[in-house]
Amino acid sequence: MTAPLDKESLEELRKRLLVTPKLVWDQADDTERAAMTAYAERYKQFLNRAKTEREAVKEIERQAQAAGFVDLARQEPGTRVFYSYKGKTIALVVEGRRPLSDGIRLVAAHIDSPRLDLKQNPVYEDTDLVFLKTHYYGGIKKYQWLARPLALHGVVLTLDGRTVELRVGEEPGDPVFTVVDLPPHLGRKVQMEKKVSEAFEGEKLNVLVGSLPLGDPDTKERFKLAFLKFLEDQYGIIEEDLVSAEMEVVPAGPAVDLGWDRSLVGGYGQDDRSCAYAALEAVLETRDPEHTCLALFYDKEEIGSDGNTSAKSCLLEELVEQLLERQGQSPLLRRRVLMASRAISADVSGGIDPDYPEVHEKRNAAKLGYGVCLTKFTGHGGKYAANDAHAEYLVWLRRIFNEAGVLWQASHLGKVDEGGGGTIAKYLAVHGLEIIDCGTPLLSMHSPLEVASKADLYMTYKAYKTFFTAPGG
Ligand code: MN
Ligand code: MN
Repeated sequence: MTAPLDKESLEELRKRLLVTPKLVWDQADDTERAAMTAYAERYKQFLNRAKTEREAVKEIERQAQAAGFVDLARQEPGTRVFYSYKGKTIALVVEGRRPLSDGIRLVAAHIDSPRLDLKQNPVYEDTDLVFLKTHYYGGIKKYQWLARPLALHGVVLTLDGRTVELRVGEEPGDPVFTVVDLPPHLGRKVQMEKKVSEAFEGEKLNVLVGSLPLGDPDTKERFKLAFLKFLEDQYGIIEEDLVSAEMEVVPAGPAVDLGWDRSLVGGYGQDDRSCAYAALEAVLETRDPEHTCLALFYDKEEIGSDGNTSAKSCLLEELVEQLLERQGQSPLLRRRVLMASRAISADVSGGIDPDYPEVHEKRNAAKLGYGVCLTKFTGHGGKYAANDAHAEYLVWLRRIFNEAGVLWQASHLGKVDEGGGGTIAKYLAVHGLEIIDCGTPLLSMHSPLEVASKADLYMTYKAYKTFFTAPGG
């Protein structure tokens, strides 16, 4: 038997042995708090400029060019290059001192977000009102899209070779659109008495866009006609042009400070632009790294990473082959490069919602304000559809983050049998690289007003920056 320990020794033991989550606000000094605030301002600007994947690619390319990145396709000299594909996905590369076959450092985020897409024949009139038919994209709770201001973003391609870009509902004075909802007086049977999953139908997510007629009451479809005439006058497009269009309906208005203390950011599309922006700032600031650093911004994550701009596409392999050729090496080394590489699947996690403790397992769930999340595995049930990061990889990340003062938390999305979700980690893992999910915890994820802590947003950026330049591998 050892002698009982005094209070002081017990406290010392606790400190030494137990995991003590660190609240970023407790740890950050004035300088770091100022950096967090400034970072959040730039981040909100990004959210406002990049509400769709196309807009995100443009904004990322604009910032990359301003920071001296050159287009990989143009074969210009330089160690900082970008590679853009289909206008919907983009990669930023900073060449390292070591050969590519020593592995690259990859941070991969996604720039698509849940929304309503217009159908190919969207315009119709009913009851003397004009609507647009939509098909929702990604995992939404449909009721969240009713009775709120919505904006239209996208492109319409015409047969005479024009690409008409639309962005309506964002500037002060712009009109907005909406999906109307029933008054509570009439919603009892068709909504209130049903299960939430059945009460709101995708086919009823129709967007109200007008109510003016053209011609006299005998004119056929004169409300639809008035709307199409407006489109022709304003944009030079006809109804058939909407077949070759990609129009996205998103929540209208800018990202905002949330809370009286302005400690949070509220806005649409923070899954996954919180991580995308962190990756962007981190890679733009990285200079002369040991390993080649790559920030990848994928499309189509929210619908399962299918399609040629997604994480399941051959994009990464092609990019590595081009980088090898650029350095005068055989593209056949591609697989060796990827298998020696380390990656972060830069995606958000769900923070604890104190109103629903029953879906979280609080010992392993993320809390807002406690830093960037390290999620060893996602998936559902018995870890189905999960990438499961190796312990050897986690210990390296712990080390580099702790040494750099990156505050992080181990996180697990929800209780074991509660649900779950996937990320791009498993699709990149097939290349043999080390990969783990690491990103910002959010509240109200996938909603029109997602919530993040400015402290966690900043720590996400700090984590990626550290990852790009830390020694090892
Ligand atoms: Mn995501
Ligand atoms: Mn998502």
